[in-house]
Amino acid sequence: MTDTLSSDATGLDFDPDALREKYRQERDKRLRSDGNDQYIAMDGEYSRYLDDPAQTGITREPLTDEVDVAIIGTGFSGLLAGARLRQFGVESIRMIETGAEFGGTWYWNQYPGVQCDIESYIYLPLLEEMEYMPKEKYSYGPEILEHCRALGRHFDLYRDVCFGTRVHEMHWDDADDRWVLHTNHNDRMRARFVIMAIGPLSRPKLPGIAGIDTFEGHSFHTSRWDYDYTGGDTNGGLTKLSDKVVGVIGTGATAVQCIPHVGETAQHLYVFQRTPSSIDVRGNRPTDQEWAESLEPGWQQNRIENFGNIVAGSMQEEDLVSDGWTDILRNLTALGEGARLGTPEEIAEAMEMADFQKMEQIRSRVDELIADPNVADALKPYYRQFCKRPCFHDDYLPTFNRDNVTLVDTDGQGVERITPRGVVAGGQEYELDCLIFATGFEVGTDYSHRANCEIYGRGGVTLSERWKDGMSTFHGVVSRGYPNLLHMGGIQSGVSPNFTELYNEQSQHVAYIVEQGLSSGATVIEPTEEAETEWVRIIFESAYRRAGFLESCTPGYYNNEGKPDDGPGWFGGTYGGGAQEFFKLLKAWRDEGALEGLELS
Ligand code: NDP
Repeated sequence: MTDTLSSDATGLDFDPDALREKYRQERDKRLRSDGNDQYIAMDGEYSRYLDDPAQTGITREPLTDEVDVAIIGTGFSGLLAGARLRQFGVESIRMIETGAEFGGTWYWNQYPGVQCDIESYIYLPLLEEMEYMPKEKYSYGPEILEHCRALGRHFDLYRDVCFGTRVHEMHWDDADDRWVLHTNHNDRMRARFVIMAIGPLSRPKLPGIAGIDTFEGHSFHTSRWDYDYTGGDTNGGLTKLSDKVVGVIGTGATAVQCIPHVGETAQHLYVFQRTPSSIDVRGNRPTDQEWAESLEPGWQQNRIENFGNIVAGSMQEEDLVSDGWTDILRNLTALGEGARLGTPEEIAEAMEMADFQKMEQIRSRVDELIADPNVADALKPYYRQFCKRPCFHDDYLPTFNRDNVTLVDTDGQGVERITPRGVVAGGQEYELDCLIFATGFEVGTDYSHRANCEIYGRGGVTLSERWKDGMSTFHGVVSRGYPNLLHMGGIQSGVSPNFTELYNEQSQHVAYIVEQGLSSGATVIEPTEEAETEWVRIIFESAYRRAGFLESCTPGYYNNEGKPDDGPGWFGGTYGGGAQEFFKLLKAWRDEGALEGLELS
């Protein structure tokens, strides 16, 4: 069976008008008035979902000492900040981490099959400095986690870290220009500077499905995988599920990776789908040693920039990474370039055609891999490629050919109800022993809630209050009223799919600002009101430019769950010129050396 729509005089093997209409219908059936409010935060009775299955409890005496820089969060952004500070000669650092190890997202997300979709040679930071070459083109979680540990060792950051520690409150002390950090260990740590390295998707969320609190079976969120219950490890082998009926809610990037393993071992697996992901070819392969040995110094940055430029829509002579991401974006750019002499409408139409073509390929891949045509139809995504995060996997779709796996497609409506015995969808109850929530992470909720920490700035004003109508920063890094507090992780910045590129650039930026403060003897660094207002204006302008595209998308966290007009969206808006231009802008600002837009006192 093919999904090809009727040819027309344009020579296309699909009908653009029919696809546009189909996309609109699929979006409309998913739009809901509660938008982002449909999710439940893991607070109160749901906070047990945040418990760390690997942590038995770390005890130590409270700390009341002072450091030059406290870094909250020790995923790649925190580790890179620590590394850059070390390179500037900053010795007095404290790294603070809720988990029991470095790694951030790679510490928490240890579900079976966990892997990074971005090529390892550009994703794992500082490979040349670390003299490390990843084993495969796409690294699995354990190798990435080990790289985090290696960074910690290489930059001597283990001596500065407090694991098992959560900062729940921090106060700016105006009297002596220090931050005071309050933690779950009754610490009162003091710091001249604080770097927030909390990651963009760090706080898991649950769907607000009626009866969710009544389920009497076992349940957990993918970011706290319970191997005691399932058996096995990140490589799979979940043998304890062999007599269990398991349900997975969610079919995003996480579900795509863990479902093949659950399907392989569970007595029966029900996958509850609201919106199918687009699943392209993975094509992983071991690193070619000959190629690795042939690389010249500087190769990694060169490769990172080559990828970054292609995904930012800039034509490059060579595509070094050459994978699903660059393939999509090269095609879009080529068509856009081809139409460049045309009107903006013609360019937009050319891009839309390239997108239709790509998604037609994705949909026909479903037909090739799925035996049952009804199941195949349900697994086809009908939206533009970047409405949701593209996924890449070779075993996910074939999992639905297994006799012990059932796709429960909810036609965009989601699960109806959860009962003590299981899940109700489409009016039918599915009895389950175990329910796994692959329902993602908080996006667009209050920053302090995501940080799990209230920040009291100058005059005791909380950041929640200050940002209640939207984030406000200068360069996405500093915010007036919160002196010496530096943000990393993407808010109001230039964002690329390769997040570690952003962290690497931001780490150099925040380390530079801290170093300027320490070496000049300034005790307070804060953006001017004008600089911050201007940056927010730039961010909002570009957010509104993208609003039309986002409006047409099926709901998801990229478009504020179908409500792009409710604010600048993901990250409080992103820089319209794209990541590469943003990095150049930051570098030019540092090179100028005038700290323009900042007040030092
Ligand atoms: P997502 O937010 O992408 O997915 C959540 C899933 O839960 C969606 O399929 C969503 O459906 C579904 N869902 C929510 N509520 C309901 C409901 N009431 N009934 C049924 N289904 C529901 O979370 P993930 O953890 O999958 O991924 C988060 C991000 O993490 C990714 O976008 C990516 O950036 C990153 N990531 C990267 C990986 C990689 O490199 N391979 C791997 C894993 C994660 P709907 O789509 O309809 O909203």
